[in-house]
Amino acid sequence: MRGIDQVRNIGISAHIDSGKTTLSERILFYAGRIHRISEVRGEGDGATMDHMDLERERGITITSAATTVDWEGSEINLIDTPGHVDFTVEVERSLRVLDGAVLVLCSVGGVQAQSITVDRQMRRYHVPRVAFINKMDRTGADPQRVVGQLHDKLDCNAVLMQLPIGKEVDFEGVIDLVRLRAIYFDGEKGEDLREEDIPESLLDDVAAARQHMLEALAMFSDELMELLLEEGEVPESLIHEVLRGAVWSQQITPVFLGTAFRNKGVQPLLDAIVRYLPSPMDCEYSALTHADRKAGDKFDDDVMGGGSEADDAEKAELAELAELAEELGEELDEAVSDESGKLIRLTPDPEGEPVAMAFKITEDPYGALTFMRIYQGRFEKGCSYYNQRSGKKERFSRLVRMHADQREEIDSAGPGDIVAALGVDCASGDTYAARPRYCTLESMFVPEPVIEVAVSPTQTADADRMSKALHRFRREDPTLRVSTDEESGETLLAGMGELHLEVYVERIRREFNVDVEVGQPKVNYREAPTQKHVFNVKHKKQTGGSGQYAHIVGHFDVLPDDAEESFLFEEKIVGGRIPRQYVPAIKKGFLSTLKKGPIAGFPVVNLSVFIKDGSYHDVDSSEMAFQTVARTTMREEFSKTKPILLEPAMKIEVECPSEFQGSVVGDLNKRRGLIASTEVVGPTCRIEAEVPLGEAFGYSTHLRSMTQGQGTFSMEFARYRQMPASIEREVIEEKRKEREAKKK
Ligand code: GDP
Repeated sequence: MRGIDQVRNIGISAHIDSGKTTLSERILFYAGRIHRISEVRGEGDGATMDHMDLERERGITITSAATTVDWEGSEINLIDTPGHVDFTVEVERSLRVLDGAVLVLCSVGGVQAQSITVDRQMRRYHVPRVAFINKMDRTGADPQRVVGQLHDKLDCNAVLMQLPIGKEVDFEGVIDLVRLRAIYFDGEKGEDLREEDIPESLLDDVAAARQHMLEALAMFSDELMELLLEEGEVPESLIHEVLRGAVWSQQITPVFLGTAFRNKGVQPLLDAIVRYLPSPMDCEYSALTHADRKAGDKFDDDVMGGGSEADDAEKAELAELAELAEELGEELDEAVSDESGKLIRLTPDPEGEPVAMAFKITEDPYGALTFMRIYQGRFEKGCSYYNQRSGKKERFSRLVRMHADQREEIDSAGPGDIVAALGVDCASGDTYAARPRYCTLESMFVPEPVIEVAVSPTQTADADRMSKALHRFRREDPTLRVSTDEESGETLLAGMGELHLEVYVERIRREFNVDVEVGQPKVNYREAPTQKHVFNVKHKKQTGGSGQYAHIVGHFDVLPDDAEESFLFEEKIVGGRIPRQYVPAIKKGFLSTLKKGPIAGFPVVNLSVFIKDGSYHDVDSSEMAFQTVARTTMREEFSKTKPILLEPAMKIEVECPSEFQGSVVGDLNKRRGLIASTEVVGPTCRIEAEVPLGEAFGYSTHLRSMTQGQGTFSMEFARYRQMPASIEREVIEEKRKEREAKKK
């Protein structure tokens, strides 16, 4: 049996269209997992990794399925991280289960918006990485420039490990700067490697590049430094060893070159993955033990909205604690243990207590496949394990390892393995262990949605099937929110972008066979105060029997945009002017109004409330009365903070042939876009802009027609920003009409 030290769990992450899918295909091909290559675009029935039709059509990878390949005696588990930023939660979840990653960059496009986002996430999860500059055959390919961007834009110590032989269409192969050999890729699919001496004309460049590489490595090894100073022979094994250490500690990113599409450079990249990225043995993982929570406390899986906030808040809290604990090391164990569980280290020991995390759930005709990463102990087929969130015991009736689209049935799996279990009913992110309430792995930051659409089945008879679909998607993806509009009774889907929601609507159609009608997408605006306002509000009612009395004095203030919380409640009530027991009721009263702000019913943010005084009545005051006075204060006084609407702004990055630059920029300006940069590289131009979400609907169709299908773009949420007064008025007016229409 293969040892754990020969396993590599890696992800390939990339900006959309840099060739991640093509590269994954080539890896499967060279590792003998597939026997023919079907191109992502054009002929053929699509890539093996993108097994959903939908993805094939869009050419982007949405699901993060895993597949196992063998490479020279090692086992590489390829975890497919989604490239589109609308799906960051999936990216984050897949990053958590990786031990290393390949950052794919386009030789022309270089470091693009999504590379930056993904890199930030990788840093957060301390994922060591190697970089692959793809598309070396493209006009304008410039690996040095990309390396420069890795330094400047990602602050990443990138070091070229290879030099190209030939340029652009004449790119023939690479020079290995460690072994000082020229490598060519012969055969129809580049499967035959041919090694030669370095071409004479490149000798000087190679010597300089190698020296540069060795100097970068010498920072991490005295031995290497001495050899360099003495101008001695540097053994190959020393280079590998020093580089491995520096990659593991994320201090260096070695850079490799190639063109997946033209079958060059992929095999040396596979060698580098095995050589420089860590195995599960070399990584440290920890989990949080369960705190002494009351049974059932916030633990139920509330799928259709409602209690999900409590869940999310809890997750965010755990994430913070985990991060904190990580920073402070062991010391924090004691402090944390009182409230939210203790951090324990998981060891890749087959004899240890089994712990695994479900990171992806996919459905196929045979039922649900739950992809898991095992961190500790062994999981056996036919045995039962406990879901740490729900407490439910589940039998893992079958275990399989996935190889592209084939399954291998296995009896058991151990630490470091990535396998899929059949017949397990859980949500992605759930942890399984041999006993209940042992520990949990997932602690993730879940962003608030920025866009919303109403969906309804065309045939009323399909309502059940639609809700079943939504129920499932919601479990797979916490950034997808499902709720019911109180006034209209419509089902609302909220998410992180237009494409994000479109994909789910499409999946309802295809996977559940339900035709759905989709309303106009709606932007989630926010209401925010702009100035301080002092209030003094009394709630008094005398109707027959006991009355109601509550009185508060305090002020509203503005929280800065970058404040951690969007709402802050503070009080300094002295002398028992309001008894302590009513204070939580006041806070609750304010909180209950924040979801629907007074201007146009959007969530209120950036608000701080300070209570300093008030009064009460022995008989007539109650918690109810204090909640009511808080709500009244919000209704009557909030408008005096001169609140404004904020709109979500998206960061858009467009790449298109230069001839379209003028029209693309002009169009972005028309959409109230702020152009951040434009850059022309060879025949291609790249434009970065910030555009309000409300002006960006349908952008993909629009860009396509504007650039004759040659433009690509990526879009991700950037920030909330103030909107022009005229448009704000329109939004408020529209919202008012909408409410009236609903009342009728
Ligand atoms: P992904 O979005 O990152 O998964 O990228 P794909 O693998 O779908 O590739 C995007 C496009 O780039 C496709 O049309 C590919 O055929 C093309 N492509 C991929 N690799 C290369 C390459 O090495 N050279 C060139 N010229 N095109 C490539």
